[in-house]
Amino acid sequence: MQPSGRLHLGNYHGALKNWLALQEDYDCFYFIADWHALTTLYEDPHLIKKFSFDVAVDWLASGLDPEKCTLFVQSEIPAHAELHLLLSMIVPVPWLERNPTYKEKQVEVKSVDMSSYGFLGYPVLQTADVVLYKADFVPVGIDQAPHLELSREIVRRFHNLYKKKVFVEPSAKISEIPKLNGVDGRKMSKSYNNAIYLSDSEKEITKKIKGMLTDPKRARRDDPGEPDVCNLFPFHKLYSSEEMQEEIIPACRTAQIGCGDCKLKLVDSMLAGMRPIMEKRREISVNPKEVKEILRAGTEKAGKVAHATLQEVKQCMKI
Ligand code: SF4
Repeated sequence: MQPSGRLHLGNYHGALKNWLALQEDYDCFYFIADWHALTTLYEDPHLIKKFSFDVAVDWLASGLDPEKCTLFVQSEIPAHAELHLLLSMIVPVPWLERNPTYKEKQVEVKSVDMSSYGFLGYPVLQTADVVLYKADFVPVGIDQAPHLELSREIVRRFHNLYKKKVFVEPSAKISEIPKLNGVDGRKMSKSYNNAIYLSDSEKEITKKIKGMLTDPKRARRDDPGEPDVCNLFPFHKLYSSEEMQEEIIPACRTAQIGCGDCKLKLVDSMLAGMRPIMEKRREISVNPKEVKEILRAGTEKAGKVAHATLQEVKQCMKI
């Protein structure tokens, strides 16, 4: 996960919740991808350390457990950079140029020049990140699947060139990502200033929900609404009981409930759902030494695995 700021509900429901489930059944390695963050934050690299700490606190508060999974910081393990360099020698540039994210970001991101060599090559670094740990699976959303396909191609090319199977071809573990927009109806994103953060206070969350866009056709209190197109209802699906949802749906469609009351119900459900994370966050953030120690121990464990793989790679390449 890139440390590009505090984590919001989109990050939590889109990735983190899935990671929590996976740590119960798999030997998971989760890392803060601070070198990847440099592809967009290269003008403000000083922010990355702070953001990395924030991400680690959000992870732990959400329930990632260092007893069950390995948590570390990418840049603390130089093997990631070294393998990235070695793999970059065998990756044809057109493979990278056809990456859909590369093309999209060139158009979408206006605030920073994304035409860097580092950004073009980030799928190679991503491949190094995965294959260093001989990962069988990578938990990704469907939009990330092409990146993983590229990693598989790179692995095959390496094995063909050096006639030895060092890596595992990673498979995508695709998780269903609930569609969750920001308070203004656009994709939830830090850059749109429309996100609800795991670290928001109860007051901030209440204010954000009260200001949330609902069904745009419901201009007046007695206009009927439609939960299926309402921006707020997906949050009820995540936080409110089924009984409450079943109560709201017909009441909305017949204008028996107003959006104001519906929002207050969501405030109660969401705060109840988020309180355990908030409380844990408070405990953890006053103890930065413990957070650093968890990352240090995780880095030590991951570093050994990464180093051993890199040695195999070098033997195989005879360098
Ligand atoms: S009543 Fe609730 S579900 Fe219906 S439009 Fe308003 S906020 Fe959305």
